[in-house]
Amino acid sequence: MRAINGSAQKAPVNTFAPITHWCRQCDSHYPTHRVCRIVPAPVSPDSEVGVLICPKCSSYDIEELQEVSDAQ
Ligand SMILES: [Zn+2]
Repeated sequence: MRAINGSAQKAPVNTFAPITHWCRQCDSHYPTHRVCRIVPAPVSPDSEVGVLICPKCSSYDIEELQEVSDAQ
């Protein structure tokens, strides 16, 4: 089932963002802004939390790659 529409497609594809995250579910690699999603915190309606979710398969099983630590 596809639950993600619209806002995820706004960013241009040719950005130079480094690949920093890997989806263990579908074996795809993404830069941070593709997998980071801001959602309301369940404990407090006034705050937000960032979650990592795959834009392709909607899995939360995202692994952060450590080999690009120089990028920051
Ligand atoms: Zn995935």
